[in-house]
Amino acid sequence: MGLGYYMGGVKMMFGMVLWGTFLRVVVGVNATWFVNSASHMFGPRRFETKDDSRNNWWVAILTGGEGWHNNHHAHPVSARHGLVWYEFDINYYGIWLLKKLGIAKKVQIAKWDPSNPKPAGA
Ligand SMILES: [Zn+2]
Repeated sequence: MGLGYYMGGVKMMFGMVLWGTFLRVVVGVNATWFVNSASHMFGPRRFETKDDSRNNWWVAILTGGEGWHNNHHAHPVSARHGLVWYEFDINYYGIWLLKKLGIAKKVQIAKWDPSNPKPAGA
């Protein structure tokens, strides 16, 4: 707030609070909610799960990979949701790095055979 006041007075100070706090929270919360709303309505289904989950590319971009929701429902304990190279999953890349650094242990990853697209346990 002090930086905003220094740069442009009270108006800039409140502007920085608005953009830096409230907008960030609104965007973050709505992106999270899109996972369980839009990713259950729009997009293709790779796996025949018992629910209506779908893989939604734009939710995956907004959430760092959580939009590959049908993959997640089919393999719920897998740290990796993007199962093929074009399914961008930055959350998994972070987990992969933590594993390489020895910080994360027992990381489970879906073993998926494209010729046999069944959910885990089916
Ligand atoms: Zn779901």
